[in-house]
Amino acid sequence: MSSHLWKFNPNTAFLRGLVDLNENNYIITDENMSSTTPGVFAAGDVRAKPLKQIATAVGDGAIAGVSAEKYIEENF
Ligand SMILES: Cc1cc2nc3c(=O)[nH]c(=O)nc-3n(C[C@H](O)[C@H](O)[C@H](O)COP(=O)(O)OP(=O)(O)OC[C@H]3O[C@@H](n4cnc5c(N)ncnc54)[C@H](O)[C@@H]3O)c2cc1C
Repeated sequence: MSSHLWKFNPNTAFLRGLVDLNENNYIITDENMSSTTPGVFAAGDVRAKPLKQIATAVGDGAIAGVSAEKYIEENF
């Protein structure tokens, strides 16, 4: 079975009310891995996205890291 068909419950209950989650409790992000709350970023399987694999998680992490650095530079 392809991994994109596996269904899991992300451990995001503690984020409820802090960031927007989709109907399956995955974190909604934009293309910069920013959640709906400025300064909060998400990467990997916890993010709402169509393909949850190592390759996409690594790419998410690279983007999230750069985005977080930029956010800090611009806001602090
Ligand atoms: C059985 C199986 C087989 C797979 N095979 C493949 C494959 O062949 N190829 C492929 O590309 N992908 C495969 N995948 C998918 C791949 O494992 C994931 O896409 C990848 O691991 C996602 O990385 P991640 O860092 O986002 O999440 P994870 O690897 O799940 O890491 C998240 C970590 O956060 C920890 N955590 C959770 N909640 C908290 C908390 N509140 N505080 C602190 N830590 C917390 C977890 O314990 C975990 O260690 C497979 C997945 C499964 C389940």
